[in-house]
Amino acid sequence: MRIAVLLQDRCQPKKCNIECMKYCPKVRTGVQTVVMGENGKPEITEGLCAGCGICVHKCPFEAVKIIGLPDELEGEIMHQYGLNGFRLYRLPVPKVGLVTGILGPNGIGKTTAFRLLSGAEIPNLGNYENPPSKEQVLEKFSGTELHLFLEKVYAGKTKTSLKPQYVDKLPSVHKGVVRELLEKVQERMSMNEAIEMLELKDVVDRSLGELSGGELQRVAIAATILKESDVYFFDEPSSYLDIYQRIKVARIIQSLSEKKQVVVIEHDLAILDFLADNIYLVYGSQGAFGVFAQPRQVRVAINTYLDGYMREENIRFRDTSIVFEDRPPRSSWQSVSLLDYDAIECSYPNFKVRVEAGSIRIGESVGVVGPNAIGKTTFVKVLAGVLQPTLGGIQNNVKVSYKPQYINPDFDGTVMEMFLVGVKDFFQSGFFESEIAHPLMLKHLYEKKLENLSGGELQRVAIALCLSRDADIYLLDEPSAYLDSNQRMETAKTIRRVMEKRGRSALVVDHDIYFLDMVSDSMMVFSGSPGKQGLGQGPFDMRQGMNRFLKSVDVTFRRDNETHRPRINKPNSRLDKDQKERGEYYYSS
Ligand code: ADP
Ligand code: ADP
Repeated sequence: MRIAVLLQDRCQPKKCNIECMKYCPKVRTGVQTVVMGENGKPEITEGLCAGCGICVHKCPFEAVKIIGLPDELEGEIMHQYGLNGFRLYRLPVPKVGLVTGILGPNGIGKTTAFRLLSGAEIPNLGNYENPPSKEQVLEKFSGTELHLFLEKVYAGKTKTSLKPQYVDKLPSVHKGVVRELLEKVQERMSMNEAIEMLELKDVVDRSLGELSGGELQRVAIAATILKESDVYFFDEPSSYLDIYQRIKVARIIQSLSEKKQVVVIEHDLAILDFLADNIYLVYGSQGAFGVFAQPRQVRVAINTYLDGYMREENIRFRDTSIVFEDRPPRSSWQSVSLLDYDAIECSYPNFKVRVEAGSIRIGESVGVVGPNAIGKTTFVKVLAGVLQPTLGGIQNNVKVSYKPQYINPDFDGTVMEMFLVGVKDFFQSGFFESEIAHPLMLKHLYEKKLENLSGGELQRVAIALCLSRDADIYLLDEPSAYLDSNQRMETAKTIRRVMEKRGRSALVVDHDIYFLDMVSDSMMVFSGSPGKQGLGQGPFDMRQGMNRFLKSVDVTFRRDNETHRPRINKPNSRLDKDQKERGEYYYSS
């Protein structure tokens, strides 16, 4: 079976010579394989396509994909977004008593699956011109679990609730204060119970527009679990939360699954591993097609994901496997220090942070961990010389390039224009192309306007821009947010390589342990009481840094026997107690 997909957002018939049509051997012999459609974009008839792939190579915008798929998928199509549009094959089926996880790249159909399962959209089974009725859909799946599931959804017997992905958009949808939003939805429990569970006491009388990302995330989760539903969908519940909050939310979602059906999309693999029981891996080609593989037990699923190869399906979805070391990297860092600082103190009327003396070396990527509102940004402002500390100081201020946690796409123009305005020379260098643009997959974003980028796209652009500015220290605040797991690994490698090769240093604030493991040469640990007072210590070597940090959040990791990847221990399990006693929270040897 062969499918032809036109990526609408890349196709620009006004800027090309319609190469897809011009060079098609079939078109040249008079067969109408590619014709110009009414919307001014080419249409490819799959039945007439010989699969030569010439259009794929000739299209200057790489907007055409011609893909051969295994024949057994043919009858399993769930949904297709129009002619030459994205196709989704198979669907997950949630079960009571289990947290069903979904793991796959962005643009592969996860959100579409949510929509189909919740009844927001009826699967067209590939027949987008003459879509089937609900009855026909049910008939198609008769005798399956999916039939039972959808039958109840269509009959109105199954209610669903969704925690949407982009919590930063909440303030534009709900005006007013948190209390008003939550009061309206208190069905399953009282608002006060949810406020207690998610530690929202301090923000309940604030308006949504004043909340931080982590607070918005917890409000969105509270609003979802307050509703009385049968199926709960959580689209990335961890973004903007610190690790302590991530684990807390994971426990809340787990307890919800005891009586309800729960489906979670999550890209923080340590949290997904801790949270889910079964996982559906989704593979395919971004924007072209996605296939839900058979469900796997969580440990096997994540190992398979890291390995990049699904043995049962005989599908390779990544060239290389991702490996973790169970030993800390040797701390034989040869480089000289970029800056040494004495103990620093900074005070605002309601907040005070103290950072112990330390030094950051040239070429080093320092992972910065700790809760939000603990003084990390304040510290960096001192390094940059934009803020005078109340005590101590540094001799030489360094130049800082900063990627904030919340990215505001306020540039009115395309991604390419933004780079040309801000960092023209570097943007046009071979180094940018090979070390930043290529691994961060920027190529297809250049022509897009900033305001039209998805969360993950905007994140990649913001990281690239930050790394392109001339500076001594690069501060990246939560670069993993909205990136899929694969992109997180690529981003970690990119940041590290750029620092090493250009002899600069990075401070990377993040809460995803796998990401931190990959990005950091050393670790700075902030602790204290968020919004009141903070203490910054380090940078420490990885073993000491992880131990200090994980001790403060009371979490230990064991190692998977097969892959050595870190896995969160159950609290008070034998391993948890043993490791705490030995003071080894992360590395096993
Ligand atoms: P994910 O949640 O895995 O990121 P989505 O389900 O949102 O993926 O989208 C999968 C693909 O389907 C994307 O390429 C997207 O462009 C396309 N798509 C999503 N919604 C629509 C729609 N309403 N019309 C046409 N294409 C769509
Ligand atoms: P982090 O980067 O760890 O999230 P910040 O350094 O941004 O933390 O902020 C720490 C605390 O200081 C927060 O409670 C924040 O509200 C407060 N704060 C930050 N900037 C100011 C300021 N200019 N005036 C008053 N308080 C501030």
